[in-house]
Amino acid sequence: MSEKVADIPIHTIGFSGADVPDPNVINTCVHCGLCLPTCPTYRMTGSELASPRGRIYLMKGVTEGRISLTDDTFVEQMGLCLNCRACEAACPSGVMYGGILEASRAQLQRVKEQGVKDEGGRMKDESLNPQSLISNPQSLKMGVIERGLRKVVFGTLFKNMAAFRTFSWTMKAYQKTGLQSLARKLGVLDKMKMTDAERMLPRISDQFTVPKGQIYKAEGERKYSVALLSGCIMSTAFAQVHEATIRVLNKNGCDVILPTGQGCCGALHVHGGDLDGGRELARRNIEAFEKQGLAQLDAIIVNAAGCGSTMKEYAHLLHDDPQWRSHAEAFVAKVRDVHEFLAGIELNRQDLKPLNIKVTYQEPCHMAHAQRLTAQPRKLLKAIPQLQLVEMFESSLCCGSAGIYNLTQPEMAADLGARKIENALATNAQVIATANPGCALQLAAELQKRGKDVQVRYIVELLAQSYGK
Ligand code: SF4
Ligand code: SF4
Repeated sequence: MSEKVADIPIHTIGFSGADVPDPNVINTCVHCGLCLPTCPTYRMTGSELASPRGRIYLMKGVTEGRISLTDDTFVEQMGLCLNCRACEAACPSGVMYGGILEASRAQLQRVKEQGVKDEGGRMKDESLNPQSLISNPQSLKMGVIERGLRKVVFGTLFKNMAAFRTFSWTMKAYQKTGLQSLARKLGVLDKMKMTDAERMLPRISDQFTVPKGQIYKAEGERKYSVALLSGCIMSTAFAQVHEATIRVLNKNGCDVILPTGQGCCGALHVHGGDLDGGRELARRNIEAFEKQGLAQLDAIIVNAAGCGSTMKEYAHLLHDDPQWRSHAEAFVAKVRDVHEFLAGIELNRQDLKPLNIKVTYQEPCHMAHAQRLTAQPRKLLKAIPQLQLVEMFESSLCCGSAGIYNLTQPEMAADLGARKIENALATNAQVIATANPGCALQLAAELQKRGKDVQVRYIVELLAQSYGK
């Protein structure tokens, strides 16, 4: 505590260069604490440092040079945050938390990529008590796994859809040839400490959704012309959700186009602090949809909450890029979550057949908090005749999935996953409805652990079923 700020190498003092967390946003926080009860990590730990207010305080400390950028607590808390943005939705002062978190992570990422050692333990502000750290800092730092994952997954797989599909085919072969069952039976995964990570692997669909500019025609009179984001994991592991989405949109008078040249939306990159990686993918998608005739489209439809939230923020992501800023703004103006779109038009109700099932809804964070869409998904579920919607406790509390959070913060992810599934099971619903791949995988893994015969379905899958798929 007696160490002077001057002792710290210059590269660890303050934020610098591109993507600095906006001090105006940081200073908007009036420390009222109204966001605390909504924060999953605060709820789980009770620690002020693991709360939004605590994290903003840490960011302010780094901005002002009182806390080192490589401080253990700062690094730990930037990693432990789920970027669920529940705090942002609850904040009466309008603190745009997601942006300052992502910029903080980008700063950390750059320091790490430059090979600067983490000097650690540089808490400069004595009002913060390092003893209150919520768990062993060693287990919370970015380790070898995350470093490797970033390079292979973010740098290669998610940037190259051909590589992503090849990887998905390999996973499909692993699942279908019996290798998966064998590995599980022999305990190989246990020995490699990969059991939980492997359980999160999605079941890969038999049919990938490869965008080739194809148009799926509206049933009956055409009222709208929309384009669908095929994305990465949604077009392989969740291709059946795309099929359902297209079916539902066709039943509602939409021609659905799958623009060629599109790919991953960049959500994982942006949330993880690889903002340049996110920008690269954003530009590629904007270009692909522009080639399809953006001006003629009524909407760009997204059926995954995390992707939709990121795409709606492309203009913010590219605001410093004079060449792309206006393109991004025009693109963002068209982006609609599929539930938002369907709830905003006159829904084709006459073709909806009864589904006599009990359903509970698990709200994806990037639907409820980042996009503030809470009524629309429920409206669609309630539109299905005989479907009984039962609300679960803490429906909008993060399920612990959060991109690669399961791998980087396995303990917190598991605790939140368990809390979520217990709340869902308490409703006795036969189906847990959701709208995001990460949530769907997390929920399915928790159900599998417990041997529960409860389905996890996307809302559009239920709608498609009701339309007689
Ligand atoms: S982020 Fe908003 S709600 Fe939370 S402490 Fe700051 S001003 Fe209050
Ligand atoms: S984004 Fe979520 S986990 Fe992070 S501080 Fe806000 S509420 Fe807490």
